[in-house]
Amino acid sequence: MRRWVTVAAFAGALALNGCERERRAPAAQAEQTVCAPEDTADFSGRNAYNHCAALCAFGPRPTGSQAYAAQVDYVIKQLENVGWHVQRDTFSPRPGRRMTNLRAIYGVEAGTRPVLVSCHIDTKGQGQEAILGADDGASGAAVLLELARVLAHTPEKAQQVELIFFDGEEALGGHINEEDGLYGSRYDVARRGEHGLPACMVNLDMVGGAGKTIAIPIMDTLPEMYELYRTVVRELGLPEERWTLYPGSYWDDHRPFMEAGVPTLNLIASFMGSRWWHTARDNMQRISADSLAESGKVTLRFISLYLGNGKANH
Ligand SMILES: [Zn+2]
Repeated sequence: MRRWVTVAAFAGALALNGCERERRAPAAQAEQTVCAPEDTADFSGRNAYNHCAALCAFGPRPTGSQAYAAQVDYVIKQLENVGWHVQRDTFSPRPGRRMTNLRAIYGVEAGTRPVLVSCHIDTKGQGQEAILGADDGASGAAVLLELARVLAHTPEKAQQVELIFFDGEEALGGHINEEDGLYGSRYDVARRGEHGLPACMVNLDMVGGAGKTIAIPIMDTLPEMYELYRTVVRELGLPEERWTLYPGSYWDDHRPFMEAGVPTLNLIASFMGSRWWHTARDNMQRISADSLAESGKVTLRFISLYLGNGKANH
């Protein structure tokens, strides 16, 4: 028996790959039918792809927009459907501006989880182009939503993990710097204080592009984290030239945690100099289910190895 979830979407929405039915209202307010997730024990690239398409169907989702608020409801519903407890964390980084992070934990016990897995769900809002942010925005969230479903199959592991969907990663002005961007992650580090920090953090950003090259910013990564990443890549038989390193540092949501002393791994594809980044070309045409699946499996394996090595107790 198949269940269906209806998601309101804007008129120019994308067809959802892999779904057999689609329902559209005739006027500007269209509706789409999203398949309920395939319930396998493994990470499903198809499920992640469908989440990515569903998020993009809300249209560009810059912080503060109606589309951002609508996708928040979608993300919460998906997480709660697979047993996660979700908290909306609304904050005001600047006068007159409100932002909302989503934090999800599994199990009834409160307290800090050792492993934090994060992404951002705002999209770049500046400029004339309508930026859907299929990769830079939706892909990380799509992987986290499918991770939530898979982790729920092993509650003892799920209870060691916190998932965060950050608002305000993108700069309100041109580029992220000391004063602009990373609002959600900066706020979250400050909110936690010294004793509420996780033992490690994996941040996913731009992890769904077909044929992508993941390049970990090595200056932001402790050797032990990088070694674990290399082990995962080898174990999964992934091509090492496409799962490599970037010899520098990035302004991304891992950075406030890194600066607070948390070992971080920023899973991010090479994007500098690309023709799609922060343009209308960042749409579902560049996303592949296989690419999302690889990123999800790497993250899952990394979590397992990290917890298995007892690093969470350090
Ligand atoms: Zn961006």
